[in-house]
Amino acid sequence: MIPLSQMLKENVVAGMFLDRDGVVNAKAPRGEYITSPDDLVLLRGVAAAIRRVNELRVPVYIVTNQRWVAHRHDGIEKLRAIHKRLGALLGSTGAYVDGIYACVHEINRCGCRKPERGLVDEVVSHNRKLALSSCVMVGDAETDIELASRCGMYSVRLVSDQDNVHFDRESTRAQEIAVDLYSAVVGKHVVGGTNRSARQPSPSRSRETFVLSTTSEKG
Ligand SMILES: [Zn+2]
Repeated sequence: MIPLSQMLKENVVAGMFLDRDGVVNAKAPRGEYITSPDDLVLLRGVAAAIRRVNELRVPVYIVTNQRWVAHRHDGIEKLRAIHKRLGALLGSTGAYVDGIYACVHEINRCGCRKPERGLVDEVVSHNRKLALSSCVMVGDAETDIELASRCGMYSVRLVSDQDNVHFDRESTRAQEIAVDLYSAVVGKHVVGGTNRSARQPSPSRSRETFVLSTTSEKG
């Protein structure tokens, strides 16, 4: 099987699905969540990686579980603000995502909490030509890989250098392992530098739509 970077070069990727925390932005400390726009920090190389995918005209969708939202009266509002900032940070570098799809439900209450496929189905409902069998999922959790498998997508599991020491190749069903999104997309490691832009994020000019899953909650 050829790696993602090569598939992109050969123009055979129809769409890219990304997990959010740990793939696009830095994860909150263990047991915590990103609940404020100020907590959102893009990971190194992410803007460049997404820009590269944008240039290839491959749509990029973020699919994310954010169950903390269910427990906060202002959760939806906060999540919108977080995603607005995400769009602005990417937009300031010329990158954009085509959609951010979030499950805001508690565990076992819906059909959209990954690894359930509701979020992916919602993307397809907005882009009916999208062939999932030609799509790719990049995630840092095995639930993302499970989702990819259920949808017939190629999957890339991110394992940071830090985790690598303890990572057992047999513990993932992913077709590919990479240290970060940039290496997965470009096929090499980021050398030096940082992704934090010195420029202030400009108002988002990105084309992403913010979608809260409408999949109805189970009684
Ligand atoms: Zn859900």
